[in-house]
Amino acid sequence: MCYAIPAKVVEIKKNIAVLDYFGERRNVVLDLPDIHIDDYVFAQGGILVRKVDEKEALAVLDTWKDLFFELKEIDQQLAQSSHAEKLSGNALAVLQKINLKQTLTKEDLLILNALQNPQELSVLYDVANQVRQRVHGNASCVHGIIEFSNYCRGDCFYCGIRRERSIERYRMTEAEILATTKQAIDEYGFKAIVLQSGEDLYYDEDKLEHLVKALRQLGILIFLSIGVRPVATYKKLYAAGARAALMRFETSNPVIFNELRPNTTLDERLTLIRELKKIGYVLATGFLIGLPHEQPEDLVNNILLTQELAPEMYSFGPLIPTQDTPLVHAPTISVEQVLKTIAIARVASPDANILVTTALETLSLEAKRQALLAGANSMMINLTPRQYRPLYSIYDHRACNDQTVAANIQETIQLLRDLGRAPMDVGL
Ligand code: SF4
Repeated sequence: MCYAIPAKVVEIKKNIAVLDYFGERRNVVLDLPDIHIDDYVFAQGGILVRKVDEKEALAVLDTWKDLFFELKEIDQQLAQSSHAEKLSGNALAVLQKINLKQTLTKEDLLILNALQNPQELSVLYDVANQVRQRVHGNASCVHGIIEFSNYCRGDCFYCGIRRERSIERYRMTEAEILATTKQAIDEYGFKAIVLQSGEDLYYDEDKLEHLVKALRQLGILIFLSIGVRPVATYKKLYAAGARAALMRFETSNPVIFNELRPNTTLDERLTLIRELKKIGYVLATGFLIGLPHEQPEDLVNNILLTQELAPEMYSFGPLIPTQDTPLVHAPTISVEQVLKTIAIARVASPDANILVTTALETLSLEAKRQALLAGANSMMINLTPRQYRPLYSIYDHRACNDQTVAANIQETIQLLRDLGRAPMDVGL
């Protein structure tokens, strides 16, 4: 089972390598020594992560050569239909701007966000899918995520692992994390692993550094999602081999932020997100959709702030009200609003990689497919060992809690094939 197609290095320009996938070119950061033109490599998240033996690469490419072009054709067909005549007035004018590849204004995004009629929304999703296809082709990246600790010093009002909530806590040992990662690589072919936890200070700078160094030996992209830590810690972890970081700002509205995240401010969080980018991390950021008191303008401001932070990956999840948290009675956001947000983000930021989060899958089983057809192009598969998965209860009734990793992967492969997506790196 393989989650990434190997590519051939066809050009090297300083620290950028140009990779070829069956005639398609992608630029990635050259982050390894001794890489030369004509080498075969794996890349993830726009970073070259491992050189591959030529014989191994050619064997994998041989299994993909016909399928790759079949998938491309399926993707192109699915990205063709759009019935612009179903739009009128201002929305039609915005659609014309998208077709002319013009920059959309805040007013344009508000017009799109005001669409409610299912027929109009289906045009928006189709157009977003076309933009995704035009910019990224059928590339889709699939990363694995290991939730290694549900301890958290934070107390965010919407979160099911906040420190005030009485839940069974767990913390994987370094040996368990390494064994889970090795299994993900050896059995399932993953090339990028997200390490996620609450803000668990048991895993201090030294322990994290030790862990990152050990994982680095495995030739994968190490993606951190460990919350607020000193900039110096993030620098040390980068030096140890971590290359990507996920940190959402959650809302661009400072008043709502302060209400929901005690003892911290939006400014502090944004400063850290900008520092992560400066250090050199591939950045994933975004926000929660549907926080109480947010207005349509807040949602559009959230998209614009995401754009301004210039992440390599956009991550938007719906708020899912969770038992025993202060937001238990907040209204559940609709799947349509999440899809609409993904589609607006896609047309506003054609180059972005947009993630389908498991929170969206929790709202609806069909949502993953719908999101991939509304502009999204990245996914994560939960690799957390089954005994811990239900305990990482950031919200209620999480999707895939009961599914084996193998079954989840099989389902994802089938979905990608149905939609004509190929697991090559999405590039920079
Ligand atoms: S959102 Fe993050 S920091 Fe806040 S309580 Fe949850 S895990 Fe902790």
